[in-house]
Amino acid sequence: MGNVTEDHTFAVDRLPRAGETRLARSHRTELGGKGLNQALILARADIATRLVAPIGRDAPGRAARAMVAAEIPGATLIETDAPTDRSIITVAEGGENSILSTAAAARSMTPAAAVAALADLSPGDTVLLQGNLTRPTTRSVLELARARRAATVANPSPIEWDWTPLWPLLDLVFVNAPELAHLSGARDTTGGCRALLDLGLRELVVTLGADGALAASREGTVSVSAIAVEPVDTAGAGDTFCGAYLAATLRGRSPEAALGIAASAAALTVGRPGTHGAFPDRTELSACFG
Ligand code: ADP
Repeated sequence: MGNVTEDHTFAVDRLPRAGETRLARSHRTELGGKGLNQALILARADIATRLVAPIGRDAPGRAARAMVAAEIPGATLIETDAPTDRSIITVAEGGENSILSTAAAARSMTPAAAVAALADLSPGDTVLLQGNLTRPTTRSVLELARARRAATVANPSPIEWDWTPLWPLLDLVFVNAPELAHLSGARDTTGGCRALLDLGLRELVVTLGADGALAASREGTVSVSAIAVEPVDTAGAGDTFCGAYLAATLRGRSPEAALGIAASAAALTVGRPGTHGAFPDRTELSACFG
C-alpha cells in the first residue's frame, strides 16, 4: 500500500545550489512513487501483488490505471479529490539525485479507507508500506496486519513523522544509511541497527549505495557488496532493492541470498536513466534469481 506519482526527471551536469537556476540537459515524464515502484518489482518477480494506492481524477491517474492494469492486475487504485502526486527528480552526472514530492493524494487515504481496502487480508499475506501515508493510516494498517497474522514490512521514506512507536509492529524495515542515522540517532551503521532492533524491530535491511547493503536481526548481520556498475541514475535503486529483497525472501531465499539478488537487480536500475524505464524487466529479474 502506498503512493503513485507522476515523475518529472531533469538531467543536469550538477545539482543546483540554493538560489541557483540551471538548465537541464533533458527532461522525461514517467510514472513512479515508492508504492508503485516497489509493487512493480514484486509483480515482475512473480509475486502475487496487490497494490492499494490513491490517485487523482486526472491524466496521471488515468495513465497509472492503464499501467497497473497491464503490470499489476491485482491493484486497487482509489480515486481522491486531490491531484495525483508529483515528483521532481534532479539527476546529476554520476547518478546523484535529489527528489521533491507532493503527497496530498497519499495523505488523503484515511485509516478507514485503508482498512476497508484490505478487508480480505489473510494470514500468510505480507503488507508493504512506505513513508508517504499519514501516521494514523500507517498504524491502522500495521495493527490490522498484526490482527490478521499477516507479515509487516516498511520502507519509512520519506521520513515525515516519528516511527519509533511502530517498530514493534514491523517484521522487516528497509532504510538507506542517512535514514538509519536519522531514525536511530546513532553515528554508525552497527549502532543504528542495534538501536532499532532493541526497540522491537525484527529485521532491518540497510542499503549503503555503492558500498552495498546489509541485513541485521537478533541472530546476526550479513552483508553484500554492490555490483560494480557505472552509475547513470540512482533514482529508484532503493525501491528496486527493496522489491527484489522482499520477493526473494517471499520465495524462500535466505537473507544472504536475498541481498545478492537485490544488489544485482538494483545495479541494473543504477546503470540506466529513469526510474521505471530503468527497472529490470521480468526476464532480467528472473536472471537475478539465478
Ligand atoms: P536509496 O536509493 O534508497 O538511497 P541506496 O543509494 O543505498 O538507496 O541504493 C540502493 C542499492 O542500490 C544499494 O544497496 C546498491 O545495491 C545499489 N546501488 C546504489 N548505488 C550504486 C552504485 N553506485 N553502484 C552499484 N550499485 C549501487
